[in-house]
Amino acid sequence: MRVLLVAPPGAGKGTQGALIATHFGIPHIATGDLLRDHVARGTELGRAVKQHLDEGHLVPDEIVLRIVEQEIAEAKAAGGGYVLDGVPRNITQARALYEAALKLDMTADVALHLKVGDEEVVRRLLARAALEHRSDDTEEVIARRLAVYHDVTAPIVDWYAERGILVSVDAMRPVEQVGREVLTALEVLRPLVGVVPPGARRPIDLTGLGAAFGK
Ligand code: ADP
Repeated sequence: MRVLLVAPPGAGKGTQGALIATHFGIPHIATGDLLRDHVARGTELGRAVKQHLDEGHLVPDEIVLRIVEQEIAEAKAAGGGYVLDGVPRNITQARALYEAALKLDMTADVALHLKVGDEEVVRRLLARAALEHRSDDTEEVIARRLAVYHDVTAPIVDWYAERGILVSVDAMRPVEQVGREVLTALEVLRPLVGVVPPGARRPIDLTGLGAAFGK
């Protein structure tokens, strides 16, 4: 199973990404974590990206793409599955990633869109700030990250809808309920992966399912 997550900051990409990775026994590739790790270790790359992270701007595409392409090659060697969390974040990254993955026969089977409103996102991130002290969880930087999401990341959702790999989930609910719906959707899709040609697929919108999954 190859899944990529598209969601605003604070939607729960990290949590749901880890859940999917554990459930399917596949690597969880989180670009934010990889970049923060470079910053913490003080590598050359870490020094190059620190200010972008602190200010809530995207780091340059070529830096992220270099890291991710290497991770995808490793995921291929490790069995072929992955959960991509935090990439792509704009159309340039989406296209570049698709080209690179195509060469490796590793394109995504599902683009999982976690839908959450802005107010809820801000509430969650400020709550996290009190616990984790991430340098980008301040009110000002959260606002910038959200603006970046709406301006350049959200438009790629349509691109995945056109490719027929989009699954949208209502992520306004408690984490366990979202997780249950996500895993159910992926398990239902699992036997179809690689069988249904992309042209014949339709996007799947589960955002109305809240009640069925215990709102
Ligand atoms: P969040 O989604 O909550 O903002 P992440 O951990 O995914 O958290 O990302 C944190 C920061 O890392 C981003 O604000 C950005 O600076 C950088 N980053 C992560 N992924 C990418 C990417 N694909 N392209 C550019 N910058 C990225």
